[in-house]
Amino acid sequence: MNKKPFVTKEQLDEITKTYPTPFHLYDEKGIRENVKALKEAFAWNPGYKEYFAVKATPNPFLIQILREYGCGCDCSSYTELMISEAVGAVGQDIMFSSNDTPADEFKLADRLGATINLDDITHIEFLEETIGHIPERISCRYNPGGLFKISNDIMDNPGDAKYGMTTPQMYEAFRTLKSKGAKEFGIHAFLASNTVTNDYYPMLAKVLFEEAVKLRKETGAHITFINLSGGIGIPYRPDQEPNDIHAIGEGVRRVYEEVLVPAGMGDVAIYTELGRYILGPYGCLVTTAIHEKHTHKEYIGVDACAVNLMRPAMYGAYHHITVSGKEDAPCDHKYDVTGSLCENNDKFAIDRMLPKIDMGDYLVIHDTGAHGFSMGYNYNGKLKSAELLLKEDGSVQLIRRAEAPNDYFATFDCFDIGKKLIK
Ligand SMILES: *Cc1c(COP(=O)(O)O)cnc(C)c1O
Repeated sequence: MNKKPFVTKEQLDEITKTYPTPFHLYDEKGIRENVKALKEAFAWNPGYKEYFAVKATPNPFLIQILREYGCGCDCSSYTELMISEAVGAVGQDIMFSSNDTPADEFKLADRLGATINLDDITHIEFLEETIGHIPERISCRYNPGGLFKISNDIMDNPGDAKYGMTTPQMYEAFRTLKSKGAKEFGIHAFLASNTVTNDYYPMLAKVLFEEAVKLRKETGAHITFINLSGGIGIPYRPDQEPNDIHAIGEGVRRVYEEVLVPAGMGDVAIYTELGRYILGPYGCLVTTAIHEKHTHKEYIGVDACAVNLMRPAMYGAYHHITVSGKEDAPCDHKYDVTGSLCENNDKFAIDRMLPKIDMGDYLVIHDTGAHGFSMGYNYNGKLKSAELLLKEDGSVQLIRRAEAPNDYFATFDCFDIGKKLIK
């Protein structure tokens, strides 16, 4: 597949007159079409709801767009809960799927009426002590352990993951919660990340649905929702086949009718907590080539760095790069594309075949719409970039300004920046 950016060189020439690179740019049209397709794919389930994983792209302007399609927020921290509240997502519009949870976060989640998804059996007591009661509606996160396989392919290793409760713990947790007044139960699991196959959700659904039937039978718990969480991936590489969300929705429906309906559980709502799948392809990092270096290798230095997009440095993740305006030029130059951190892993691409790059060219780094900006940090005192929204009418809206030095220095209360030490 030919990965083409959603923004042209002409548009970038216009945008950069107002907003200098680097910046993350999001595609409103693509976002709307994608979330509409997701809703259609699960429309067979009357209770279906997507809780957007706020950590993927914690920008209220983008989440507000998703809200128009009925999406709630999946939060796992204090500030994510605050963002959710700010966009009007409260009560059953919040799924609080945290782990190793501080008391203050449970308190805020409870105050907002969020559905709390417990990561561990010991959190029952911790929650009860923290908020003074057990909510009537509650969820437990399940981790069956072992390897998660599709045919012979290992998708992920839940047995090595810190999340969730074991099978016996799920039964004990449901019984305990029930005895403490819980009335409505949910089951949640996230067993594989960034899956580029239509089989992951249906397979996960089968595991969870079968477990749900047994849990209801043995504990008498009234299970009202099953949360398939995140994990539907995107094709970061041009040779990958994208997931077909309609096939995924149909696959889950088949398992639902095979397992839940005959067990008299045909009223269970299906929830998802997608992040990457919702926004990943609809954001890109736009950066300018500012240096070229010819030593033991050929380097192109750009004005963005790993602070703006950490995935290549952290996971060795592939992000496709297009040299804007040279979409049809032959890829006959081999480059390492680097940022400016004093870290040798600060490379957006290694030995990447690209068209000849000239200084001032815009490089569009694809698929940064989720887990892109949000993973940013401030190493080397580098500042985070702006986020811009390319609207459906072609105009551009600043949805988060770039950090300025004062933002970076704001937490030094005893230091008058640029002047002197106060104490
Ligand atoms: C990260 C996360 C998600 C979203 O994952 P994606 O890979 O973006 O789909 C959903 N739920 C929980 C609990 C998470 O931690």
